[in-house]
Amino acid sequence: MFEVKNIEGVNLKENPVIAKMSKYNHEQLLFCNDNDTGLKAIIAIHNTKLGPALGGTRMWNYNNETEALDDVLRLSRGMTYKNSISGLNLGGGKAVIIGDSHTMKSEALFRRFGRFVHSLAGNYITAEDVGIEPLDMTYVGVETNYVVGLPGKSGDPSPVTAYGTYMGMKACAKILYGSDSLSEKVVAIQGVGHVGEYLIKYLLKEGAKVYVSDIHTPLLNRISKDYNVNVVGIDEIYDLDMDIYAPCALGATLNDNTLNRLKCSIIAGAANNQLEKEDVHGMKIMDKGIIYAPDFALNAGGVINCYSELKGFSNEWAMTKAEEIYTTIYDIVKRSKKESIPTYQIANKIAEERILDIQNT
Ligand code: NAD
Repeated sequence: MFEVKNIEGVNLKENPVIAKMSKYNHEQLLFCNDNDTGLKAIIAIHNTKLGPALGGTRMWNYNNETEALDDVLRLSRGMTYKNSISGLNLGGGKAVIIGDSHTMKSEALFRRFGRFVHSLAGNYITAEDVGIEPLDMTYVGVETNYVVGLPGKSGDPSPVTAYGTYMGMKACAKILYGSDSLSEKVVAIQGVGHVGEYLIKYLLKEGAKVYVSDIHTPLLNRISKDYNVNVVGIDEIYDLDMDIYAPCALGATLNDNTLNRLKCSIIAGAANNQLEKEDVHGMKIMDKGIIYAPDFALNAGGVINCYSELKGFSNEWAMTKAEEIYTTIYDIVKRSKKESIPTYQIANKIAEERILDIQNT
């Protein structure tokens, strides 16, 4: 149970929303409602000490509003850490639109949402996330300039995300094998969507032996035709004799079941929220002697790409910045070994320290 600080005359225990905000010190929540378009959305701003809050908008058919609220609070906090550890002058925010992305979308709904984003006057900048297409964001962009990743601008962030993931993977190899070459290393990529496919290209170019899995059979067939990779089953991947496991599909794949099976020495992939239970599974990975590259530090290429658009920087700038993920991951793993603390905790500390440093200047 978290601690609730009572302000004089206000019993926060009676206001669960404010209590949830105070648990991780969220700054602002905006509940958006528009009966005409069916828009129901929540924008959460976690922390703006480093700059305006940036994070994507997710459209998801949540079971209820509480689930949506919990998700937006968790995701916006995650963005604070990701933006901080990547050295960007951005805070953390996120938005969720409650509803079925297959049936509820309309120009009017996204334009209405855009006006809510605009009402925050740049304190929150939005982008695409799960369930959102470039066209939806184009409608948001009619109403506000506080949106990045529009078609014709910085474009698909996946190549930059894949490059950062690849560089971080090499940093782990450097620490473990004394060389960052991935030649002849067996790498298993779970999920060969936008990021996974670009990652395949980097790995094959370097001479790695690549195994892939995906639940989408037509995509898997196309990938196995286009690249020199080996296909493994969606569950079989956890039992493979591999050096590196690269989760690039969904979150929570590092859990009691999979960690009892994984025989790899490095885990480095682009998926968000890979640890099912951060404390339990982060520790278990360390106890097993596996090097884990913390997801939010490794997959920051996407937000780096957004930042470059915001600042008017070039694609080259974004790629160079993503290359720095090598050093970030190298330092995290080194410090984790020195202090015998799981890598995810070190990453959290580094992100928090940067915010504290800036806040105190
Ligand atoms: P994507 O939807 O293009 O690809 C994900 C792939 O995973 C799909 O092909 C899907 O069929 C497959 N998949 C789903 N469940 C699976 C399972 N159980 N086993 C095997 N395959 C499965 O998504 P993406 O843009 O490539 O992103 C991949 C991950 O990286 C996501 O978790 C995303 O949140 C994260 N991420 C992406 C970016 C980016 O720039 N695209 C940035 C940061 C983080």
